[in-house]
Amino acid sequence: MNCFNHTELVAVSTCQDCQKGLCNECSHKYKFPICTECNLNRMKIEKRAIYKEFGLTLLGGLIIYSFIASGTTYKQKDFGFKIFSLFFSFGIVSGWRTLNRITPNIFLALPLVGWLIYFMVKFVLSAMIGWFMLPIRIVKNVKRLIELKNIPK
Ligand SMILES: [Zn+2]
Ligand SMILES: [Zn+2]
Repeated sequence: MNCFNHTELVAVSTCQDCQKGLCNECSHKYKFPICTECNLNRMKIEKRAIYKEFGLTLLGGLIIYSFIASGTTYKQKDFGFKIFSLFFSFGIVSGWRTLNRITPNIFLALPLVGWLIYFMVKFVLSAMIGWFMLPIRIVKNVKRLIELKNIPK
């Protein structure tokens, strides 16, 4: 098999995603053997996932925060409580995303009640870790977006 981009050169590897042949130079263009087209595609998918997370964080935060702020005693609470409420509300999605990485898929076979309990427990845990995972994930995602922007095409 020859390189997809350089038909006169012998392929030394294949693209991880589409199995096109890649010559020595093309194999080393990125960190692992992948063709330009598939790499762009992966970057697009990754970018979309990051924007989606930002969107969900904003939406989830607005819903939960407006719920907390609509409480009758909210106005009397001190400044610290209000700040924490903000972090708490907007952190749920970040917490949830963090948990996604460690919760296995074995729960897929659960009955409906099991799912409800699973989601409730996961929601509470997300709230517990979300308020400090929020800044960590924002920094991580922004860094990754900048990185993606600077990867040579
Ligand atoms: Zn490819
Ligand atoms: Zn090549």
